[in-house]
Amino acid sequence: MGQHVIKTYWHENEFQQNTYIIELEDECILVDAGCPTNIIDDFIKKPIVAIFITHAHFDHIKYIEDYDRLNIPIYAHKNALQILSDERLDASNMFDQPTRFYIENIQTIDEGEIKNFGVEINAYYTPGHSSDSMSYLIENDLYSGDTLFSEAIGRYDLATSDKNDLIASLKKLQNLKFNKLYAGHGRTSNFNEQQHNIDYWIKTLQK
Ligand SMILES: [Zn+2]
Repeated sequence: MGQHVIKTYWHENEFQQNTYIIELEDECILVDAGCPTNIIDDFIKKPIVAIFITHAHFDHIKYIEDYDRLNIPIYAHKNALQILSDERLDASNMFDQPTRFYIENIQTIDEGEIKNFGVEINAYYTPGHSSDSMSYLIENDLYSGDTLFSEAIGRYDLATSDKNDLIASLKKLQNLKFNKLYAGHGRTSNFNEQQHNIDYWIKTLQK
């Protein structure tokens, strides 16, 4: 296991999406692309070798085309391909910011895949908030996108949402052992806190 440092960039717009910078010895990887490339440069001077997208809602991939132009490999679930190129599916339409994204360096990733960039990235398919939602276990920390927040869960009334899928995904996350929870919005949480939170939300959704 390599030593790494997590930095969060909290974008100061109405959506306040988190972008995580995982700084390794000589390089770094990102989870989501909700912050501009120059902000990343301010944080770190190491090359970005991969970006893992939790889902293709527009706030989380707001600057993805800029990273794509730098030829950085972008990993996302195959359903993201359709979502990111459709302003209804990527939810930008709802907020009067219709955006279609065009990305060339996209590589699909799915349940059970493990990527190694000096740290192991374990991929879990966790649909429900959107049909392309992925969660990533990186070393012992969980990056849950908009599936799970520190005190809540993601919306399940959007274009590619599915409530039953979300219940199944939360059960999947409940069975994972993790240290910290790094969500798509809001503060960082941890495993102990989440045992209550996930349980509460599964029960609430099942009512
Ligand atoms: Zn979302």
